[in-house]
Amino acid sequence: MTTPTQPFFLYARKSTDVEDKQVLSIEAQLIELREYAAREHISIIDELVEKQSAKIPGRPVFNGMIDRIEKGEANGIVSWHPDRLARNSVDGGKLIYLVDTEKIKALKFPTFWFEPSPQGKFMLQIAFGQSKYYVDSLSENTKRGLRQKVRNGIFPAPAPMGYLNDVRTKTIVINPQKGPILKAAFQLYAKGHSRLEDIAHFLASKGLVSRKNNQFHKDRITFFLSNPFYIGLFRYGGEIHEGKHEPLIAKKLFTKVQEVLKARGKTVVKTATPKAFTGLLRCGICSMMITAEIQEKFYKGTNRHVVYTYYHCTRKSKTIVCRDIPIREEELDQQLSRLLLAVSLPSDWAENMKKQMKKDAMESAQSVAPIVAGKQQELSKLSMKLQHLLDSYLDQDIDKETYRKKKQELMVKKQTLEESIVTLQQSQNVWLEPLKTWISDASTVASVARGKDLTQKKEYLKKAFGLNLRLTHQKARGSALEPWAALRAAPTSRNWVDDGGFEPPTPST
Ligand SMILES: [Zn+2]
Repeated sequence: MTTPTQPFFLYARKSTDVEDKQVLSIEAQLIELREYAAREHISIIDELVEKQSAKIPGRPVFNGMIDRIEKGEANGIVSWHPDRLARNSVDGGKLIYLVDTEKIKALKFPTFWFEPSPQGKFMLQIAFGQSKYYVDSLSENTKRGLRQKVRNGIFPAPAPMGYLNDVRTKTIVINPQKGPILKAAFQLYAKGHSRLEDIAHFLASKGLVSRKNNQFHKDRITFFLSNPFYIGLFRYGGEIHEGKHEPLIAKKLFTKVQEVLKARGKTVVKTATPKAFTGLLRCGICSMMITAEIQEKFYKGTNRHVVYTYYHCTRKSKTIVCRDIPIREEELDQQLSRLLLAVSLPSDWAENMKKQMKKDAMESAQSVAPIVAGKQQELSKLSMKLQHLLDSYLDQDIDKETYRKKKQELMVKKQTLEESIVTLQQSQNVWLEPLKTWISDASTVASVARGKDLTQKKEYLKKAFGLNLRLTHQKARGSALEPWAALRAAPTSRNWVDDGGFEPPTPST
């Protein structure tokens, strides 16, 4: 076990060896290792960088590190992989010896599991030796490959619209047909006179439409127009990376488009959503709907004219005299956003759920397959019987009446069978589409909650809470619908801060 105070050396190495060609650059190793150390609470007392091969003994930085460990300056090393520390039996042996004599208490690698047990030391021996590829296959090889791809500037996913994945060269190239159209869309939008819908219309007129053959939704257009891929960068793992692909448009045009997006975005939010939250909440005292009212205030001293939106009870109850106090839109927005955040699905959970969903879908397809096959066999038997029946009739072995009766009987059976096959095939995946939609909704919630689009917030609040939201004494609360409620009950690693203004919701009944 590592105690937080245990001193570690951080050791990064890359040489010009052929074996090191695929290894992360020193810069990248340092970045990854610092992050890893922070995550694992490893305290680094010195960062050591070496640019020599580890195939032969006698590296100055490595030897210096060993000396310092023998003197007791540190008793742990963190490095990207054991093969960064040693690739020859002498240096490898030295390290193992220091582990045996407990001068080294811990060796930590983000890509390699090590524990000072006989098994761990055996694995380490192999890693230090020549059998690099054997060890690699045991570690997080694919993950590293993906990272490597990212660092090499290759977007590790299907190319966005306007580009093509060239399977032959494993690169991403500009689509000769769609690329120029997309570029024209950027130019058009940069002029500042087009709405997102107009751009969608423009693209549709040139044949660029969604998979379902519809004009693109305006959210998709925003996504295209703000995707840095088109200027030669790409987003991956929450970071922007430099790509190897050819930029479709100049950075200047892209920047202009971002300005227009920002400017137009603002006016849309302001003008399109007055009283956005009406029809969403009920009064917690008298159960009447909550409505909104716009008040304008003029501040004489500063000569400022400010417009406020207040929400309050419609007070239409004939039995209860309601004296609930109004709440400012900004405050209500904050409270509702917190309610939304509490039912958000973190993206890593969403990814896991999607994986599980795919697995389940496959398993259920497999479990249904033999039943369907059985029914199809019955079906072909029936078809044969029908054929025999017809033959018998034609050979005049049976009379017309018997033929008709028997045929009718068989036809009904056939139809029933056909229907049950279709039902079986459909029913195995009835849960798939709703679940997919829900995962996508739930993982979008956090960004909606943090955003400024109140109409969108209302839409998601309705999805998650239905008509369960109540406003009582300026506090919004409500119980989420299933399956959203489950998210709220889950232990939360979601980073939203409770500033004390939020009261826990009443449990759903
Ligand atoms: Zn009321």
